[in-house]
Amino acid sequence: MQQSHMQQSRITHEGNRSVKLVTFDDGNGSRLGVLGSDAGVVDVSATGVAKTLLEVIEAGASGLVALQEAAVAAPVLAPDRVRLLAPLRPRNNIMAVGRNYQAHAKEFSASGFDASEKKVIPDHPIIFTKALSSIIGPDEAINTAMDPSSTADYEGELGVVIGAGGHRIDADTAMNHVFGYTVVNDVTARALQARHVQFFIGKSPATFCPMGPCIVTADEIDDIGSARLRTTVNGELRQDAAIGDLIFDIPTLVESISAAVLLEPGDVIATGTPAGVGIGFDPPVYLQPGDVVEVSIDGIGTLRNPVI
Ligand code: MG
Repeated sequence: MQQSHMQQSRITHEGNRSVKLVTFDDGNGSRLGVLGSDAGVVDVSATGVAKTLLEVIEAGASGLVALQEAAVAAPVLAPDRVRLLAPLRPRNNIMAVGRNYQAHAKEFSASGFDASEKKVIPDHPIIFTKALSSIIGPDEAINTAMDPSSTADYEGELGVVIGAGGHRIDADTAMNHVFGYTVVNDVTARALQARHVQFFIGKSPATFCPMGPCIVTADEIDDIGSARLRTTVNGELRQDAAIGDLIFDIPTLVESISAAVLLEPGDVIATGTPAGVGIGFDPPVYLQPGDVVEVSIDGIGTLRNPVI
C-alpha cells in the first residue's frame, strides 16, 4: 500500500514543474509537503530542504526547484496519516477585497450592511485586512462563539499568494509576482462589520480565516479567470461564479495595493467573494453550529470546514 502511494506520487511529479504544496501535521508538528494525485503527501521536510512554505517562497524560483528535487527522494505518507494545516502563515495580515464581483456588490448594498458605502460598484478596490490569528486550516472548525454578535457569514474566495515582493508593481508585470493560488473563506461577523465601520474586527475573530487545502503554483493553472468558484453550505450550492468575473482583476489588485504598500513574499490577497452570501438572503441566513461550509475552486481543490 505504502509502496503504491510512493510510485503514483512520484510519477505525477516527474518532468512537471507545477505542484500542490501543503503544510501538514503527522503527529510530529508542522511539516512541509507536496500533495500527490492520490492524496498521499510527500514529506519534503524529511529531506531538510525547507521547514516552511514561507521559506520556499522567500527563496524565489530556486526554492521551488530545490523543493521539487528533494520531493523525488522524500518519503510519502498515506492520507490517513496526516492532517492538513493552513498551507501558509504569511508575515503580514491577510489582505482582502470588498465588493469585487458585480452581483455581490449589489446584494451587499441591498443588505444595508456597509456603513461606509459610497457607491454600489467602487471606483477603486476596497482593501482591508484580517488578523493572522484568524487563520485555520482545512477541516478545522469555524467557531461561532468567537463572534459576540452571532452573525457569522461565509465568503468563498480565491487567495493569491505573492512570490517576489515589491513596491509599485505595474499591472503589466504583476503576474510575475504571483507564486500561486489557494482557497480562502473570508468568514465575517456581519454585525461587527457594520458596527465598527472599519472591517478589521468583523473579519478577524479567531477561526474566521480558513485557508487551503493547498497552494497551487501559478504555472499549474493556464487561465485562472476561467476557473469557477463554488461554495456550498450543508451541500446546498450558495455561490457559483467564474474568477474572471472579478471587477478588479489580479494584476489591478497587485498594482493598487503595491502602489502604497510593500508586498512581501508569502503575502495573501483574498480577492473578494461572489454573490450568494448569507446576508444576501431576506432575512439573512447566518452560519450555525453543525453547518459544514465547502469552498471549491477548479484546479486548486476544496476547502471544507465544519461550524461549531
Ligand atoms: Mg471577502
